[in-house]
Amino acid sequence: MANPSLLILAGDGIGPEVMDEVKKVISWMGTARGIHFDVSEDLVGGCAYDAHGTPLTDATMAKAQEVDAVLLGAVGGPKYDKLDFSVKPERGLLRLRKEMDLFSNLRPAQCFDALADFSSLKRDVVAGLDIMIVRELTSGVYFGEPRGIFKEGNERVGINTQRYTESEIARVAKSAFELARRRGNKVCSMEKANVMESGILWRDVVTEVHQRDYQDVELSHMYADAGAMQLTRWPKQFDVIVTDNLFGDLLSDLAAMLTGSLGMLPSASLGAPMANGRPKAMYEPVHGSAPDIAGQGKANPIACILSFAMALRYSFDLGDEATRVEQAVEKVLADGLRTADLLGPEGGSPIGTAAMGDAIIAALNASV
Ligand code: NAD
Repeated sequence: MANPSLLILAGDGIGPEVMDEVKKVISWMGTARGIHFDVSEDLVGGCAYDAHGTPLTDATMAKAQEVDAVLLGAVGGPKYDKLDFSVKPERGLLRLRKEMDLFSNLRPAQCFDALADFSSLKRDVVAGLDIMIVRELTSGVYFGEPRGIFKEGNERVGINTQRYTESEIARVAKSAFELARRRGNKVCSMEKANVMESGILWRDVVTEVHQRDYQDVELSHMYADAGAMQLTRWPKQFDVIVTDNLFGDLLSDLAAMLTGSLGMLPSASLGAPMANGRPKAMYEPVHGSAPDIAGQGKANPIACILSFAMALRYSFDLGDEATRVEQAVEKVLADGLRTADLLGPEGGSPIGTAAMGDAIIAALNASV
């Protein structure tokens, strides 16, 4: 059988630096575990604009559609801030998400014990936290029509439309239930059914999907505002949270910050299954291109490495290998190794991007 294929789009700023450390983990999987990937690389974002005058060429888009998974670093930077909106680096990313129809955005909030004091919440509230927010990514109020700023009488009115079809809700609900079965088997669906018709439909459809195919999974519903309160009060009550694009945008950032640094946060965006049964998929750290530290070898590669671990689990059904990578990360943190972003107020001596990658490889070596 052919090796699974990966397209690496490292992008701009710290993207290539953190991706170099992911490449070490990919090669380690080949040499130490006999798990080989066919890896190709291409440009996205500002570097693609510099080379081709567009943040994503049609040829790169076509490649992304063909591979088993895309690994993305980060895009953007001050050099590109004044570009026309249509060719800004972020447009490359949005095009990938849109044309691959990546409707299910997985944002884990996992608190490594060694970093529990990093959170703004008390240690016992966050230590051992492991929740997953599933955000609908391709519909809802960010895409609904009509939208715009219109003249009404002698003043302007800004309009956006929250719109969801039953099938859009059903497919993301299904994705959340499937995920729950591989984790703690609980889904909490969040909307505002008390004040929004789209919320009433959301609750109905999630309930129907549950009744039809997922009665073994525990389902609860919560208004999204109450959900925000519960996430900060006692986040460990949740396993998988499924919610729409707007609420998911807010709640996933809120949940992520329970755990500390931006340099630690992975994500996955999944679409419909391809002919080989694997979902269309793109994996990327939550952080951006960090122009303030780019080129200095200071960036934390862990978010990008954990994004690859998500690829192992969700695209390639290699959950044990994903856990191995996560445990290697846990081990280096427990050993006290820190990139600069992970130093607390008491300071300490940070290690660089490559040294953190090497330490993770050493921990992986020790695991076999
Ligand atoms: P950012 O995430 O790039 O950086 C925010 C802060 O966090 C900075 O101080 C940065 O140094 C730090 N940081 C981020 N990642 C880190 C890491 N791995 N290790 C250590 N420190 C890290 O956000 P920003 O500064 O708002 O945006 C910078 C550029 O990135 C902009 O052009 C923005 O449009 C773009 N951006 C891209 C993405 C993406 O590619 N998905 C996401 C967000 C922002």
